[in-house]
Amino acid sequence: MPCSLWTPVNKEEYKGVWVYLERAGDRLKDVGLELLGKARELAQKLGGAEVGGVIVAGSEEMAREAIYHGADKVVIIDNPELKSYTPVEYAEAIAKVVQKYKPEIFLIGGTKRGRELAAYIANTLTTGITADCTALEIDPKTRDLLQIRPTFGGTQLATIRTPQRRPQMASVRPGVFPKPQRDPSRTGEIITEKIEIPKRRTRLISVEKRLEKDVADLPPVESADIVVAGGRGLGSAEGFKLLIELAKLLNGTVGASLMAVRAGWAPHTRQIGQTGKTIRPKLYIAVGISGAIQHLMGIMEAKTIIAINPDPHAPIMENADYAVVGDYKQIIPLLIEEIRKI
Ligand code: FAD
Repeated sequence: MPCSLWTPVNKEEYKGVWVYLERAGDRLKDVGLELLGKARELAQKLGGAEVGGVIVAGSEEMAREAIYHGADKVVIIDNPELKSYTPVEYAEAIAKVVQKYKPEIFLIGGTKRGRELAAYIANTLTTGITADCTALEIDPKTRDLLQIRPTFGGTQLATIRTPQRRPQMASVRPGVFPKPQRDPSRTGEIITEKIEIPKRRTRLISVEKRLEKDVADLPPVESADIVVAGGRGLGSAEGFKLLIELAKLLNGTVGASLMAVRAGWAPHTRQIGQTGKTIRPKLYIAVGISGAIQHLMGIMEAKTIIAINPDPHAPIMENADYAVVGDYKQIIPLLIEEIRKI
């Protein structure tokens, strides 16, 4: 019989709360450690279940850090083929560990990579995954993981369960749960698993940070006094280049709305707002940005806001100290020209 999301498993075989610990160079990303703290809390509610961690191509030092932050057991997947990340191969290796140790809950940090990986792992294991949870609880009656996340544009909260399958999987964005206190007196088990994966279908040849390269010589949005930010109204990556030129002239930096990031005109590190950075510059210039509440949340502390937009009724115009009604393609080149004269 083919296995589906509705094919029940023997839940008794699954024990413990495990976390995927993503690497950032030679250290663990904070989100994994945050999830270890949450995993301990959930494990206690499950009657003192074990807390585990999985690191792909990591070191013993990383595993020890995970133990200091709440893990009882850490599995290091040892396979030189997995030094660089590719989703299919990582998911196959992690799924093998999950199949061997059978945790009843498996948590993943909702980073860009984590969100992608979570879907691949869930698919490999034929289990459910709830992305971007903001709270996790245990139903005391059924022991099910209650996976809570915003829905309908953040106006309501949905509670999702995985009633038939195990593990129950959820991804959680960085910063949602506090990082537990580091306790170097904690001890735990470190296991190295030599996991074989089928011949690679994809191989990383080189990494070119195209978007990051464009803004590499500009300060980060959190530390600049002047931020020129672009949104979907720019219409193209070329428009964003114009903003870079203006930002350089002003000794400032560039930011972006979520839509400009999604369009691939600016890197995620430049996103301002609820799911991006919160900034407090002296001057914020919003170009082609409508001013959705999720964006405004990131600029509440800006001292002076200038908005450039052809729509006088766009919400950003009400929130701006100076609202310039017009097409940025005409206004920004004029501004650049005038500043060059100074
Ligand atoms: P639009 O809303 O499409 O606005 C484009 C604007 O450009 C319009 O006002 C238009 O009049 C103007 N325009 C058009 N042509 C020109 C021109 N030639 N010159 C000048 N202006 C022009 N958004 C964020 O920005 N940051 C976040 O962190 C964020 N987090 C979110 C989290 C959640 C849970 C959700 C649900 C949403 C989030 N959003 C976030 C998305 C947010 O709701 C908006 O969709 C987004 O901010 C809109 O981006 P925008 O202003 O670039 O695009």
